[in-house]
Amino acid sequence: MSLKKRSLKNAEAYISGIETGDRVLLGQALTLVESKKEAHRNLANQILSGLSRNDNKSLRIGISGSPGVGKSTFIESFGNYLIGQGKTIAVLAVDPSSSITKGSILGDKTRMQSLSIHPSAFIRPSPAAETLGGVTNTTHESILLCEAAGYDVILVETVGVGQSETMVHGLVDFFMLLLLPGAGDDLQGIKRGIVELADMVVVNKVDGDRIAMANEIKRSYQNAIHLFGAKANQWETKVFLVSALQKEGLDNIWEELIAFDHSLTSNGYKSKNRIQQRKSIFEAILKNRIWEKLLNKDSNIETLKALQEAIEKNEISIYEAIDEFTKSK
Ligand code: GDP
Repeated sequence: MSLKKRSLKNAEAYISGIETGDRVLLGQALTLVESKKEAHRNLANQILSGLSRNDNKSLRIGISGSPGVGKSTFIESFGNYLIGQGKTIAVLAVDPSSSITKGSILGDKTRMQSLSIHPSAFIRPSPAAETLGGVTNTTHESILLCEAAGYDVILVETVGVGQSETMVHGLVDFFMLLLLPGAGDDLQGIKRGIVELADMVVVNKVDGDRIAMANEIKRSYQNAIHLFGAKANQWETKVFLVSALQKEGLDNIWEELIAFDHSLTSNGYKSKNRIQQRKSIFEAILKNRIWEKLLNKDSNIETLKALQEAIEKNEISIYEAIDEFTKSK
């Protein structure tokens, strides 16, 4: 969505529009959050500051898995299932590759066809990876905007290629990993660290002739997961078998999510975790900002260059260089 200057409203108009469910204004606010323009960022900051900060009603779910595992088919089926349960849902996507491939994998317009036109769902394709605020910041702010608009469940989708998983894990309450049946012990090349983050493993495409081996698949994944120690939230990671295409197994997943939400709300972990996440996001963005500010000054860039040269020639140690750079700041 492009933003023409004259179509922009003031922060109050966005805030009341978003809070009363105006999808056009929500869409524009998301574009402001993703924008590289300073003026847009400033308006986005005003909007975010003015929103109600009571954010604990929603459930934020990260969904990860390799390309082709069936994430968009699953989100389409599960999203429609949730709507059937009386929920409203927002789908956000994090696509770390979009700045390289330009055409984003996740931005494909034909995905989630029925969900994308449903009034109870709001689907946002992935932003360009390089936004002024950085991917973490942008995704976090997008979640807040969707929650202010009242969506009950926020699905944050990411491609299982590595760095984006850890980032998304730091932004959600529950992290779901989609895998294919039958690819065995190595968990399909998904990095061990990502599997360890999962609060639930969903084996998709359990249909046709794969149904016969379903229990074996489940056991082998469950065994693999048992080797990992307890997670910080103490939630036991279970394996669920589904067919996103046939819409089979979705009710078990929703039951597990409800149990998770009840349990971690009542033991206080959900809000404690969100507080911790906010602090981490604050620190990450602050570090970024301080670094950008430092590099805004020509003399700092010169000092940095000189120190980098000295390190290259092995004239000083890294620690001396750091002391030298930081002592005058
Ligand atoms: P994504 O890249 O992870 O978003 O995967 P897609 O949702 O685009 O699915 C990739 C392919 O797998 C498509 O051809 C889907 O129709 C197919 N697919 C997805 N879910 C299932 C399923 O449950 N069973 C079967 N048999 N095929 C599926």
